[in-house]
Amino acid sequence: MDRQLRRVATTHAAHHQAIRRKTRHCHSRFYARVAHWSFRGETPAIAFRWWRERWVLGGGAFLLALLTLLGIPAWANVMRHHASKPARETLTLALPPAPKEAARPVAATWKNVDVEPGETLSEIFQSQGLSGADLASVMASGKDTGALNTLHPGDQLGFLIGAKGHLDGFRYSPDAGTEVTLTAQTDGSLHAQVTTLPVERRMHFAHGVVQGSLFAAGEKAGLSETMVLKLADVFKYDIDFIKDLKQGDRFTVVYDDVYRNGQYVHGGDIIAAEFINDGHRYTAYRFKQSDGSVAYFSADGRPLRKALLRTPVSFTRISSRFGMRVDPILDKRRLHAGIDYAAPTGTPIHAAGNGVIVFRGHSRGFGNLIKIRNTPTYTTGYGHMSRFAKGLHVGSHVTQGEVIGYVGQTGWATGPHLHYEVWVNGKPENPLTVTMPKPQPLSGTLMAEFKAQTAPMVARIQMIDTATQRLARVDTGHSDVAATN
Ligand SMILES: [Zn+2]
Repeated sequence: MDRQLRRVATTHAAHHQAIRRKTRHCHSRFYARVAHWSFRGETPAIAFRWWRERWVLGGGAFLLALLTLLGIPAWANVMRHHASKPARETLTLALPPAPKEAARPVAATWKNVDVEPGETLSEIFQSQGLSGADLASVMASGKDTGALNTLHPGDQLGFLIGAKGHLDGFRYSPDAGTEVTLTAQTDGSLHAQVTTLPVERRMHFAHGVVQGSLFAAGEKAGLSETMVLKLADVFKYDIDFIKDLKQGDRFTVVYDDVYRNGQYVHGGDIIAAEFINDGHRYTAYRFKQSDGSVAYFSADGRPLRKALLRTPVSFTRISSRFGMRVDPILDKRRLHAGIDYAAPTGTPIHAAGNGVIVFRGHSRGFGNLIKIRNTPTYTTGYGHMSRFAKGLHVGSHVTQGEVIGYVGQTGWATGPHLHYEVWVNGKPENPLTVTMPKPQPLSGTLMAEFKAQTAPMVARIQMIDTATQRLARVDTGHSDVAATN
C-alpha cells in the first residue's frame, strides 16, 4: 500500500511540476509580448489584442472554478478516508472521485427508537423525518415485515439515516429471537439480513374464572397485565370485553416468556387460548405463516380477523367518522358515508378483503377511487388515492391485505387521507360497526400446516380443561360438605 501511495504521490509531484513549467512558459511569452506596453497615457499605444488577455483571464477563472468544484471535495474526501480507515481506503486515491462519493455522510450511526404506547409506525417514521415512501419500501422488502403491523410498546426499531435524510438502514425484531437488518443498496432497494439471537422461550399456562374484572381474574391466574391485554386483543373481534364479559366466564391460556442467557427479557405471545363467554366457547391458535405474518385462527382454521378489515390502511388515526357532519369543503351538512384515516401521502392502502375490482378511476369528489366487490352483498370503496398499485384494472382479483394504491389527497380533500366506505346491498354502512361477513377457513396446504403446527396446543388446552374441570368438581364437593356442616 505504502509503495503505491508513494508512487501516486510522485506522479502527482511530477504532474504539478509540469504544470508549473508550462505556466511559467506561458507567462514569459505573455509578458514578452506586452513589455512595450505602458500605463502612461501619452505614450502612443501600440495595438494590443485584448481578446487574448480575455482568454487568459477566462481560462484562469475556469481553472479556479474547476479546482473549487472538483479538487477541494476530492482532497477533503481523501483526507477523511485517511482519518477513518487508512489501510483500506488508500485505493480511492488512484480512482477519480465520484461526485456522489463526496456527498456521502462521514459515518451515519444507528439510532434506536423505542415504540411508545399508542404510537404508530408511520408516526415513528415521520418523527425520524422519513416519508411514507420510505415506510412503503421497508414494508415491501418482504423479510418478516408482517410483524411490523403489530408493534408493541417497548419494541425497539433501529434507524440508519444518511446525511441527506435518506433511509440507509432499518433494523427490527420480528420476534425476540430474530433481528432483521435492511440496508439500502445503490439502486435504492433494501437488502435484508437476518440474524438469529440466542433466546429461550419458556411456555406457561394459566386458567382463570372471571369474578369481577378480567384483570383481576388474570392476576389471580398468574398472568401479567400485558398478557391479559394480549388475551383481550386476540378475542376482540368476537367478544366486547366491556359490554359482553359475564361473571363466571372462564379462560385457559398457553403463553410463553422470553429469556436470553437465562434472564427474563419480556412476556412472549399467546400461543393458544380458549375463552368461554356467556356459555359460548371461543378458541384462538397462533399460526405463523412463511411470510412471517402471525394471525390467530379458531380451532376449525377460520381467522379470528373478519373477512373485511375495518381499517384497510395501517398505522393511521381516524380523522373523520361515519355520520352527519358539516362537509369541510362543501360547507354543507351532509352524511359522511365512510371513515377517514389520516396518513402520509404514499402510505399503502390494502384491500379490506378478497374481491374483484368493479371501479378504478377518477371520481369527482373521491379523486382516484377503487371499488371492490368483496362478496355478492359487500362492496368496499377507497378514495383520494395519490396513485393506484400497478397492474390493477376493473375485473382484477385482489386478496385481503394486498396493496391496491397509496394514500393521497386527490378529489375533494383538505389533507392526505383515505376515505373508506363499506356498502351492504348498495347502502353505505359504518365500517367500524357493520356486521362483517364470516371469514373463509384456511385452504388446502395452509390448513394442513395449521393443523400440524397447532395440534400439540389443542391437546394441551384439552388436558388443562379436563384437569380444571376435575378440580372444579373437587372444589364443588368441598363446598357441598362445608354447606352441610
Ligand atoms: Zn371521507
